[in-house]
Amino acid sequence: MEECAYIGLGSNLGDRELNLLRAVAEMGKLPASKITALSPFYETDPVGGVAQPNFYNAVARLVTTLAPLELLEALKKIETAVFRRADSGKWGPRSMDLDILLYGDRVFEEARLTIPHPRLAERRFVLQPLADIAPSLRHPILGKTMAELLASLTSTEKVVRV
Ligand code: ATP
Ligand code: CA
Ligand code: CA
Repeated sequence: MEECAYIGLGSNLGDRELNLLRAVAEMGKLPASKITALSPFYETDPVGGVAQPNFYNAVARLVTTLAPLELLEALKKIETAVFRRADSGKWGPRSMDLDILLYGDRVFEEARLTIPHPRLAERRFVLQPLADIAPSLRHPILGKTMAELLASLTSTEKVVRV
């Protein structure tokens, strides 16, 4: 069955804008998948306390028949094979980070994969581009729309449209 997945993209190494464009193109080539929306690109302050360059972030909507774990494996393959992402530790700098933010209205919890993404509701760099392309989409656990979640954020991290 076709499902609507929302993928968070992030890059803070190399040509960040080109990296985002390239990742979108690669996701569009996945089997039984097509990109049906892409947010504006944002330059954002890194969060998590590691000193590192600013990120470029965006969100894409991917309509796919890949199952959640198949999609995760495909995204990891893009990170490693296309972007040669080296392991710089969690929250460290990387040329490409692809996270599954939402997958239809499914709730999925496993060691390898949690959907919705557990930190979605606290991150402006995720909620801003999500609200751009899907403002009335509802979080399946919190019951609030992306626009509502964005409006209720109190964090002051910088998220600037590029
Ligand atoms: P964060 O999850 O806080 O954004 P991160 O993206 O830096 O941190 P990674 O090092 O990229 O974390 O990923 C660690 C692992 O998280 C992945 O190998 C993957 O198995 C797991 N994971 C769990 N839930 C998800 C999800 N919704 N999307 C992508 N990866 C996930
Ligand atoms: Ca991430
Ligand atoms: Ca990730």
